Amino acid sequence: MTGKELYYIAEAHFNGKLAGDGPFTKKCHGWLESQTCTRKALLTHSCTAALEMAALLLDLKPRDEVIMPSYTFVSTANAFVLRGATPVFVDIRADTLNIDESKIEAAITPRTRAIAVVHYAGVGCEMDTILQIARRYGLKVIEDAAQGVMARYKGRALGAIGDIGTYSFHETKNVISGEGGALLVNDGAFVDRSEIIREKGTDRSQFFRGAVDKYTWQDYGSSYLPGELIAAFLWAQMEEADRITSQRLEIWERYHAAFAAKEASGHLRRPVVPAECKHNAHMYYVLLPDEQTRNCVMDRLKHDGINAIFHYIPLHSSPAGQRYGRVGGDLTVTDSVASRILRLPLWLGLSSAQCDRVIDRVHAALE
Ligand SMILES: *Cc1c(COP(=O)(O)O)cnc(C)c1O
Repeated sequence: MTGKELYYIAEAHFNGKLAGDGPFTKKCHGWLESQTCTRKALLTHSCTAALEMAALLLDLKPRDEVIMPSYTFVSTANAFVLRGATPVFVDIRADTLNIDESKIEAAITPRTRAIAVVHYAGVGCEMDTILQIARRYGLKVIEDAAQGVMARYKGRALGAIGDIGTYSFHETKNVISGEGGALLVNDGAFVDRSEIIREKGTDRSQFFRGAVDKYTWQDYGSSYLPGELIAAFLWAQMEEADRITSQRLEIWERYHAAFAAKEASGHLRRPVVPAECKHNAHMYYVLLPDEQTRNCVMDRLKHDGINAIFHYIPLHSSPAGQRYGRVGGDLTVTDSVASRILRLPLWLGLSSAQCDRVIDRVHAALE
């Protein structure tokens, strides 16, 4: 926590409004809209819920296809699978671990409807190229920017570059509310329907603005809005988002400087952040030379009481990924990275001494 979370929760209680879209939710929406320049920001229960809303907005039909990386969290794929669509997995770039934009075109078929990109570790995908491909083939671009709050690509906020973006405020992310998320509606054509889908398929939001004199069932939808207690907690975090980001960046830079020599000697590879990307220090990872070394270092750190962990089991090799998706090209980089990645502890409040101890133990494990 950053300090005022419980104070704002008490304030929400005294406001006497605990359902969604009260004063704290409005503050959060305003912050997101000014921070990202999106047309419309809407809080949701989670990034997963926001991705489901994105899939509903696209009106996907069974057997439609959505191109995405295999190296991602399950929610990127699940949202579209719930609509009956097929995820088509393409490989990632060896440098940023983001979707390899040069592999997208070969995976496009007459059934392709959208490209869902994931900004891994808060480092932006090559969005200009991806948007050009999407435009050429008439596809929508969904940004899973779960890890991308406060990060930018060529000056633009991650999540506000494609047609629709999604954020996560899960406690493992940078700005948090326990569970939580947001939908960023960048394409103006989706604005009205996104409010309706979020409010159980009704025009309740327009009713509260006085735009209609009663509200009724207009479209399909569900309940995607969080209550005010969550928004109150989140508002305290948003107020401190600059400080959260700069403290995380300090830890990230400390790791990065400490491992420069080990990278030069070929013992590991550090994260790559392209010049056009301003990242948010969501994650610090290293890539070890092979799976055996990775597992060995991970075990040594565990023995030293340090929780360093690997990351995604690629979706194309998971049971549901094989049942519901298909591969679009070979996934060599994905398989290699998944077997060699090691994520180091990075959280707000990790002290310099703790960080140095992790660095020291990684060095020792590599000897
Ligand atoms: C965390 C995460 C999600 C899920 O976020 P929730 O808010 O927990 O639903 C989805 N995609 C990616 C890439 C994530 O990192």
